[in-house]
Amino acid sequence: MFKLSKKIQSLPPYLFLEIDKAKRKARAEGRDIIDLGVGDPDQPTPKFIIDALYQAAQDSANHRYALDQGMPTLRRSIEGWYKRRFNVNLNPDTEILPLIGSKEGLAHFPLAFLNPGDYSLVPDPCYPPYKGGTILAGGKPFIMPLLESNDFLPDLKKIPNSVLKKTKLLYINYPNNPTNACADKGFYKEVVSFATKHKLIVVSDLAYSEMTYDGYRAPSFLEMEGAREVGIEFHSLSKTYNMTGWRVGWACGNPQLISALAKIKSNIDSGIFSAVQLAAIAALEGPQDYIKNMCLLYQERRNVLMRGLDSLGWKASLPKATFYVWIRIPKKTNSIKFAAEILQKADIVVTPGVGFGEYGEGYIRMALTVPEERINQAIERLKKIF
Ligand SMILES: *Cc1c(COP(=O)(O)O)cnc(C)c1O
Repeated sequence: MFKLSKKIQSLPPYLFLEIDKAKRKARAEGRDIIDLGVGDPDQPTPKFIIDALYQAAQDSANHRYALDQGMPTLRRSIEGWYKRRFNVNLNPDTEILPLIGSKEGLAHFPLAFLNPGDYSLVPDPCYPPYKGGTILAGGKPFIMPLLESNDFLPDLKKIPNSVLKKTKLLYINYPNNPTNACADKGFYKEVVSFATKHKLIVVSDLAYSEMTYDGYRAPSFLEMEGAREVGIEFHSLSKTYNMTGWRVGWACGNPQLISALAKIKSNIDSGIFSAVQLAAIAALEGPQDYIKNMCLLYQERRNVLMRGLDSLGWKASLPKATFYVWIRIPKKTNSIKFAAEILQKADIVVTPGVGFGEYGEGYIRMALTVPEERINQAIERLKKIF
C-alpha cells in the first residue's frame, strides 16, 4: 500500500467524522434533522452580486487565467473598503493580496516562513487550518489555551522563552470561531508589543468583522500603531456577503509578508476567476445596508436561542459577534458523546467542541444558520429530553 507522508500522518484527527456519519445516516432514514452544525449562511448571496457575476461570466475576456496578484481594480476596491471601515490606508499594489477564500491564504502562509521544527503559536480551540497549515509547512503548533476564565484570549505571558526562541508565527482570530469571543484594542496593543519584542509575525483572521450585534464594531488588528510592522490580516467575503461557495477573500498588511505569500501562491494556484473578482468588487462597493439586515436577522435568532438555552438551564455567554453560540455541556460527559446523544435523541446536529482542539472539550457549538422557527423547534425537542 501507499505510505502517507509524516506531515499527513501528523495532522490532527478529523473528529467530526462520527457526527458526519451519524448525520448522513439519520438523513437517509428520513429523519427531520435540524442542522446547527455548519458555519455556512443559509441566506442567498445578494442579487446585485449574482447579477455582477452573471454579466462578467458572459465576457470572454474573463475566461482566461487571472492575474496572480488579483485585478488592480479589486485591490483598489479593497483599499477603499478598508479605509471606510477601519480608517486604515493600504497600498493596493504592495499591501493587499486577493485570495481564493481566506482559508487557503491562512493555510499557505506558514510555507513562506516556517523551517522544520519552527513553532506557530496557535489558539485552542480554533479554526482548524492554523494547525493544519503549520504542520503541512513542517512546523509545530504550540497551543495557546483559550479559557473562559480569561475571556477566551490567549495568555501570552504563559508561553515559555524556550518556545519563543523558535517561534515564527502567532495566530489570532477575533471575533472568534468557535467561542464568539471578541478582542478589544487593548489586547491588540499587547499583541503588537509582544510580537515586536519577540520578532514574531502576527496572523490575524478577521473573517467575522462585519457579523456583529447590539451596535458592537470589531476593530482591525491593523488599526494599532506598529501592527503593520509585524502583521498580516485575513479577510473573507464568505460570511459578510453570504459568499462561502464563491471562494474570495484577501490578505493585507506588511508588504514583505504579502509578497512572500504571493510568491508561495504563484507556485500553487493561478488566481481567482476574473468574473468572481468582478462580483467581489460589486459586493465591496455596492449597497452595504444589506449587512445590517443580515446582522439583525442573526441577532434575532441569537436572542431566541439564548432564551431557549436559558430555559433549559444551559450556560452560554451572549455573543456580540459571529453566528456561533458556545455552550457549556450541562452534564458529565464529553463533547463527542453529548453531540451524538443530541443527534440520536433530538435529531439536532451540533458541533462537539473538541473538534476545534483539546481546550474545546466541555463545550458544544451551535450555529445560527437556521430560521427562528427551527431554533424554537430545536429547543422544544431538547426540553423533552434534558
Ligand atoms: C469561515 C471562516 C473563514 C473564511 O474562510 P473562507 O475560506 O474565506 O471561506 C476564515 N476564518 C474563520 C475563523 C472562519 O470561521
